[in-house]
Amino acid sequence: MMRFILLKIYVAVIRIIVLLTGNKALKIQAYRNTFFKKQICFAAQNNMFFSPSGKIYPCCFNRKDVVGDVHASEKQWFETKERAHLQNKLKKNDFSEGCAFCKEAIHAGNYVATGSLAYDSWSKNTHEPKSMEFETDTICNLQCVMCPDEFHTTKSHSVYPPNFHETLKPWIKNLKWAKFYGGEPFIVPDYYRIWDHLISENPDCIIKVQTNGTILNERIKALLTKGKFWFMISLDSLRPEVYQKIRIGADFEKWKSNFHYFLNYSRQNKFPLNIAVCPMTLNASEMLDMVEFCNEHHIHINFNLLTSPSSLSIKNLPSAKIQLLIDQFLNSKFRTNTYVRYQNIRHFKSLIHQLQVWHKEALESEQSPMLEYDANDFCRHLFGQLPEEEMQNAEKKLRMVLSGRKIKIRENQFEKLKVVHPGKLSAFIETSSSEEILNRLDEYAVIITD
Ligand code: SF4
Repeated sequence: MMRFILLKIYVAVIRIIVLLTGNKALKIQAYRNTFFKKQICFAAQNNMFFSPSGKIYPCCFNRKDVVGDVHASEKQWFETKERAHLQNKLKKNDFSEGCAFCKEAIHAGNYVATGSLAYDSWSKNTHEPKSMEFETDTICNLQCVMCPDEFHTTKSHSVYPPNFHETLKPWIKNLKWAKFYGGEPFIVPDYYRIWDHLISENPDCIIKVQTNGTILNERIKALLTKGKFWFMISLDSLRPEVYQKIRIGADFEKWKSNFHYFLNYSRQNKFPLNIAVCPMTLNASEMLDMVEFCNEHHIHINFNLLTSPSSLSIKNLPSAKIQLLIDQFLNSKFRTNTYVRYQNIRHFKSLIHQLQVWHKEALESEQSPMLEYDANDFCRHLFGQLPEEEMQNAEKKLRMVLSGRKIKIRENQFEKLKVVHPGKLSAFIETSSSEEILNRLDEYAVIITD
């Protein structure tokens, strides 16, 4: 209760400061896990994110700024010049390049979705990581509609060396938390070795697991008794038919029974439990029920907003449909008499802020005419009308990737595509796989395969 009262006072103080200074960006301070700090993100100082490719990033939200590589000597995993460069940028709150995710969340007033909040707890340079995140394998037991194809793999494709868990040993002792993503973490073989190491070397380390909640067996139950496991469980619908349409391969009744096991475990150990929801076109109308579900069970809700695939993103709905959702959400009434309820409503309000931004963008976009191109026309318009011999590699590659497809794009989105990546579009196309290119274009256009 004391924590709740202090939080409310702190939020009120920040509101007054924002009112007096007129600086809206300061609003993020009310959502942080720390008291007022000028620097917003400390991920580059203290966190390591191990990606499926073996590249190390500062966090799970930034997949552009490579700050290390597990294929290099481990001495170069943490203290690298790339990391130092990013640290310097973030000291100035420069969220350019790879930090677009956080920049957009702040811009949209969707503060709770700002990735940097997760890394607030340790703000000093310590020459060693205080937290680690693992997405070393994308093996999964489900085929969810929103996941990219590379996550639909039922076989382990880890590029990590077999002794990876041992290499981590010197760092593990001082970690405050480690977070595990998938695919589905409970079927990633490497994770069990890392968990065993963590529990024996640093039993106080919090082990956060982002699970789809469909896997639970005796081995997992035994493991949970040994470590401090905090769960973030995915749930996209409370209606079995919708849940199973989104989470292909899952059984809602099984999820429910596992959820209650994880809930009891968390309650008994006084650990927080989070539900992660992906609001999308298939479940948008259920968000009120999801908040109520979390409030009833006294657990936290988090919304992971979907922008890709574009066909499932609320962002790409007509403005009138987005407005309907906003109206429905604004008409809701929830009690905020506990810390968890209060936090859940803050998350819900942030979701509404994001929808309002998307609504405005949709209105603007609807003013712009829709154009349809074939691959050659699209590339010609994007790169200018260069003669064949002068055509850059990027243009040739893009023509090949788009060959046989039609591209429907609004005029203003086309302009955005040219402007958003000045000078970088060619480099991106040249160095990316066909799938990555199509995924990126999917944020701007509807790509139709003949
Ligand atoms: S600002 Fe956001 S994206 Fe950038 S490093 Fe921090 S948490 Fe990651």
